[in-house]
Amino acid sequence: MNFFLTEEQKAVRRLARDFAEKEIMPIVAEDDHTHRFQREIILKMAGQGFFGAAFPEKYGGSNIGFVAHAIIVEEISRAESSLRHFFNMQALTCPLTILNWGTEKQREKYVQKLIRCELFGANAMTEPNAGSDVASIQTTAIEDGDSFVINGSKMWISNAPIMDAGVVYVKTDPRIVPKHKGISCFIVEKEMAGLTRKEIKDKLGHHCAPTGELIFENCMVPRDNLVGELGQGFKIAMNALDYGRISVAAGAVGVAQACIDESIRYCNEREAFGKKIGEFQMNQQKIADMIAGTEASRILLYKAAFLADKNVRNTLESTIAKHVASETCVRAARFAVEIFGGYGYSEEYPVARLYRDAILYQTGEGSSNITSMIIALDGLGWKRVRVDY
Ligand SMILES: Cc1cc2nc3c(=O)[nH]c(=O)nc-3n(C[C@H](O)[C@H](O)[C@H](O)COP(=O)(O)OP(=O)(O)OC[C@H]3O[C@@H](n4cnc5c(N)ncnc54)[C@H](O)[C@@H]3O)c2cc1C
Repeated sequence: MNFFLTEEQKAVRRLARDFAEKEIMPIVAEDDHTHRFQREIILKMAGQGFFGAAFPEKYGGSNIGFVAHAIIVEEISRAESSLRHFFNMQALTCPLTILNWGTEKQREKYVQKLIRCELFGANAMTEPNAGSDVASIQTTAIEDGDSFVINGSKMWISNAPIMDAGVVYVKTDPRIVPKHKGISCFIVEKEMAGLTRKEIKDKLGHHCAPTGELIFENCMVPRDNLVGELGQGFKIAMNALDYGRISVAAGAVGVAQACIDESIRYCNEREAFGKKIGEFQMNQQKIADMIAGTEASRILLYKAAFLADKNVRNTLESTIAKHVASETCVRAARFAVEIFGGYGYSEEYPVARLYRDAILYQTGEGSSNITSMIIALDGLGWKRVRVDY
């Protein structure tokens, strides 16, 4: 056991924190209010190597690992949770899936360009009629010579409006039972005829992260773009979620930490009944709950990321980390709004944004119900995901 970060991990934390404080914090309020996505800030993050931490040098990464990735995500998300999405689309779900399951030709074509943001990525599972129930997706890809013809649509896809290339999960055998065995994974590119992208506007939060739909109408995708084997898509998707949940948990820890920072500052400033509001024990209880929950989430996150660094399956650990961190960040955001009193209800203060952004963590990458189910079914012994290590 060792709870100390390495010198390299500490240096990465300093770099990411510095970047967040200098480059992101000054613009976050205006970007959030105006729903502005700034491509330049993502390119600067790529320039710092933030998306390549868990990737081998051969593909443009720094190979410093998943714990380092988690540390970077926490720092960036603490400043602006909208930017968290890019740590999946430019790292742990899109390019990492290609790295882990793709052919050498696919890796060479896409991985480095995605982590350097020369291409914007996407990871498309969810559909208008199937989100949690991935096996019930209805988009089909039917074999036609050396190609597959995709028809259907994907909903709530991060980066869809700006995507250059992404991984998409489709049914290549819509009749097979069990249903999940009919899913395959393909790489699609925005120029492909028959692919249309549509932006989803007016989201509750995460205003600076573009989200949208991908609509496929007789979209021809070459067989060379198949990732893994035919029918292997569900396995690939679940494996991608093991990694994606590391980013999501780290984002939630960042938001929770931001709630703590804001609450502590306000507790030391605001006075009521002739005292600093931090002197009231009921506010102290909230601060204690936020700090303890966030620290517990961070340790669970580091454990899940550590296992990924050791190449040990972490389905249970990344699910627990995501579950606890997302519930913690929502509670922390609610407490922060309460601590700010009436001002917590004003968009002039950051806690309103934190509250709106926090809620998404209970939905993405497996809702809290779904993560509860995975943890409980493993505990009950009905569907084991844990491994011995
Ligand atoms: C901003 C944003 C960005 C997103 N980005 C992406 C992306 O990049 N790629 C992508 O593929 N998806 C993305 N999603 C979609 C997200 O992953 C789904 O919304 C999520 O998986 C839930 O699916 P759903 O919305 O269809 O809800 P449903 O599956 O319809 O669930 C509705 C409710 O029922 C509950 N529920 C469902 N099944 C069960 C069950 N068996 N037991 C108990 N409760 C259950 C759920 O927890 C939820 O509360 C994004 C969503 C948002 C809002």
